[in-house]
Amino acid sequence: MTSEPQRARFRKVQGFSSDYAPTTITQYVSERSGMQVIVANRKGPKINGYFTLATEIFDDSGAPHTLEHLIFMGSKSYKYKGLLDKLAGRAYSNTNAWTAVDHTAYTLETAGWDGFAQILPVYLEHVILPNITDEACITEVHHVDGNGNDAGVVYSEMQALQYSSNELMDLRARRLLYPENIGFRYETGGMMEALRVLSPDRIREFHRAMYQPQNLAIIITGAADHDDLLRILEDFEESIKDDIPPPNPNFKRPFMDSPQPPPLEKTTVETVEFPEEDESTGEIVVAFFGPSCIDQVQGTAVNILMTYLCGSSVSVIENTMVEKEQLASSVSYWWDSRPNTVIWFQPTGVATEKLAFVEQRLISLLKEVASKPLDMDYIKECLQREKRQVKLQAEQSEQFYATNIITDYLFGKRDGSTLRDLESLKEYDVLEAWNDEQWRDFLKKWISDAHHVSILGKPSMQLATALKAGEEARIAKRKEELGPDGLAKLQEKLENAKTINEKPIPPEVLDQWAVPGTESIHFIESATARSGNARALGVLDNAAQKTIDAASTGSPLFIQFEDVPTNFVHLTLHLGMSETAVKYKPLLTLFADNFFNSPVMRDGKRLEFEEVVKQLEKDTVSYHIGSASRLGDYEGVSIQFQVEPEKYKTIISWLHTLMFDIIFDPVRIKAAIVKALADIPELKRDGRMMAQEIDLAIHFKPESYLSAKRTLVKAVYLRRLKKLIEKEPETVVSWLEELRKSLFTFQNMRVLVTADVAKLSDPVAAWDTLMKNPALDSSKEVLPIISLSAMLNDEGRAPGSFGSVVIPMTTLDSSYSVSTAIGLQSYSDPRLPAFLVALGYLEAVEGPLWNAVRGNGLAYGVSFSREIDGGYIQFKVYRSPDATKAIEASRNTVAKLASGEEPLDRHLVEGAVSSIVFGVADEQSTMSAAAQQNYIISVVRGLEPGWNRNVLARVRKVTEDEIRDAMRDIILPVFEPGKSNVVVTCAPIMEENMVKTLSERGYKTQVQTLSHFYDDYGLKAGEEDGDEEEDEDEDEDMSEGSFESGSDDEDDE
Ligand SMILES: [Zn+2]
Repeated sequence: MTSEPQRARFRKVQGFSSDYAPTTITQYVSERSGMQVIVANRKGPKINGYFTLATEIFDDSGAPHTLEHLIFMGSKSYKYKGLLDKLAGRAYSNTNAWTAVDHTAYTLETAGWDGFAQILPVYLEHVILPNITDEACITEVHHVDGNGNDAGVVYSEMQALQYSSNELMDLRARRLLYPENIGFRYETGGMMEALRVLSPDRIREFHRAMYQPQNLAIIITGAADHDDLLRILEDFEESIKDDIPPPNPNFKRPFMDSPQPPPLEKTTVETVEFPEEDESTGEIVVAFFGPSCIDQVQGTAVNILMTYLCGSSVSVIENTMVEKEQLASSVSYWWDSRPNTVIWFQPTGVATEKLAFVEQRLISLLKEVASKPLDMDYIKECLQREKRQVKLQAEQSEQFYATNIITDYLFGKRDGSTLRDLESLKEYDVLEAWNDEQWRDFLKKWISDAHHVSILGKPSMQLATALKAGEEARIAKRKEELGPDGLAKLQEKLENAKTINEKPIPPEVLDQWAVPGTESIHFIESATARSGNARALGVLDNAAQKTIDAASTGSPLFIQFEDVPTNFVHLTLHLGMSETAVKYKPLLTLFADNFFNSPVMRDGKRLEFEEVVKQLEKDTVSYHIGSASRLGDYEGVSIQFQVEPEKYKTIISWLHTLMFDIIFDPVRIKAAIVKALADIPELKRDGRMMAQEIDLAIHFKPESYLSAKRTLVKAVYLRRLKKLIEKEPETVVSWLEELRKSLFTFQNMRVLVTADVAKLSDPVAAWDTLMKNPALDSSKEVLPIISLSAMLNDEGRAPGSFGSVVIPMTTLDSSYSVSTAIGLQSYSDPRLPAFLVALGYLEAVEGPLWNAVRGNGLAYGVSFSREIDGGYIQFKVYRSPDATKAIEASRNTVAKLASGEEPLDRHLVEGAVSSIVFGVADEQSTMSAAAQQNYIISVVRGLEPGWNRNVLARVRKVTEDEIRDAMRDIILPVFEPGKSNVVVTCAPIMEENMVKTLSERGYKTQVQTLSHFYDDYGLKAGEEDGDEEEDEDEDEDMSEGSFESGSDDEDDE
């Protein structure tokens, strides 16, 4: 071929920088195919790709969603299931995808550009030229198995969704909002009855219609190499040119070139029943059509108005309906980005008999708000806060630009003019000038005077029973029609499809790609500086430390500064709990719920909680209190603020007020108890969480915070506390006082300040306001951080004698398990790198456990936890028809690999190493995350700086023998009776079988109820109330019992 002049096939449409965060956006378009490429360049180790197709369909067939799954089953040149994921696994990458009502996005997350560049063309070929076989549709979409049951990956996924209250209400609302010629009306995930008859050809046809380069946007965030990117895309387009039709000049842009929804002609209120045994509370959704999402001013106005109406406990809807009238446990809101946006309100936890009343109350309240002048000061506060939050998200969220660019691609102008709105936040300036009349006109136009659609979601036990019976009858009828021969044929068809799908990938195919280097992974550098007692950990020679030393006041307060070029200050107060009495530990979640929501004394006068919230909202971008687990300390508490640098001193002064001057108001405390109690029934239905909680109860001391904050503690503790606060409020208040005193001491405190240190005024002296409080005795030594392993009880230190426990739960129709054994005890254990590689190997997507368990339908997933701080290892089974079978299959797989009977797959070892690299990049993907990692490594774990990267070097040198040793010595014991304990939660019908299998395996086995693991932490029911308390317990058990009688019907059949 003669060298024809390289014509740029990708035209640069525009490039610009956003003026509120360090990001440059560049837009290209392919002159040949019309494919769009939009890159948001930002610093960091990760590159994220979102390959987005605008998709529109006018039925519930599920073609869009099933296609999303089938894309991963192979492509024209690579006809192997799992090839893409195996390849991605070796290139520091992860793939994923989602299907929305208006688009499908395929994601590629990678550490470093080189890995991304390697996977990109292979991935795109899968998207544009997938190999959609009939066999893949059988396993991935839907099939009838040899027992006559419906199965298939997508089918099971939708089965878990279709009858949930959210889905039923949302779908009914959309049916009322949109006529039949509008795509937003349909369930693109696929309705079960439609999935049962969906043909492979319908899916292929949908692919042909929608998956064309001219309907595809390659959206990338991160440090992309533009020249390399365009070269890869040009080569890709060249490689597919014979397989795709030329761009169609008459191609209709989904949604944009389709009919638009007509305005609502009337208001509709409808009741939708959802299956639920507990008929006490329901939900409501209310939908209004709003302005176009592409109009920045109008869209931002919706955001601000919704924050004003229901953004927090002080906003008018929440404050009236939740705090004062207690008609709902919350009123949440969101809006869908569309040419005609939909604005949603959702009151939750509404008493069933009040559903209609609460819906009317919401509407009348909206009209009332619109009829009087608004609180313009507060609306301006909402505007400023919204703007601060957008800036913070732009700086630190991986999704911020992607979400905005996807919306623009779907509904914006293709010439790039609407994309350009990402350049500035000038819409806020426009809105800053809006007066009361403009805001109220806007509220009236779109919301309070507008027609709407309301759905009252009503729980129905009868519907639950009817659905179950209907489903059973359908399956029974089918079985009868098919007969044993018919069923056997179906089973054979399924087995055949599996064999074809699982065709092994020859090693030489994968060898075409070399494992990419790690040079292109650019970690974010955060420089550590220390003051006060933190200096004892060592002082580095860097600019930040010099700044801090120059500003030092000699204060002993433990502060670690992390210096990164952020526009914000991330401030964390990290507290230990070693001086807190055990009896107060269950109060901590309640204390946290009230921490930012209580009246305080400030400058000598009492501020009510509304005023506190308003002022905190004004002075911060966000705030949070909770477990310090994010800092790697499961036994501590962390209080975090994100603020602008000029609010640094202000927030320290607030911290002082909140730590020492909260007024424990029994009314507020009781309200928090009631809300917390309302959440418990739902939490107790969660089989995965309950298995985890019971595992904690078996292995941890009660003084462990992990143990004290369990739902199974709250279930009994909070109920008794509610009675106590009604009778003796002063007792409960005095306990909270004690708890506060035990927490806020000098010896418990460590501070992490992440900021552009040079921009902080008085970085150290600012803390003097706090330090002068007499409760803080700065002569005390800072207490060590309690390691998780110190909280283990005897069983936890040497698991195995407890054996196993099976907990039947009427709310489950599958099973979950947690197995626990001794693990690695120390970060300096030389076996650590091999252990990490072994776990990465076993857990790989399309790896050995994936195939043994998920591939055989034994569970949706299995995983290991690696709690080095706790010194234990856990193996978990998630959503399984029989958890004991999943455990057994996993054990066999590990045993074969550990003994060498089954050789290690070289490509999977490479993948395991690569997954560790990806994990390290992922946990420090933003400036604040990188800073936090430094704190975890040096302060919490006491390791050398750069420890993470040393491990990365060491995992590369791990040998196959070392991997097998780690599997045999550290991992295999988690499957062995006498060395491990097993907790199983399951549907009652499974109990017998579980007990039998576990006993046969050699585990001592018992059956228990959830309430067996209740712990009241010594809070006894008052004597006169004793009977009442028992009644309550019984009520609860009876409601479970009545459900059981429903499932007895099933057994009779
Ligand atoms: Zn799916």
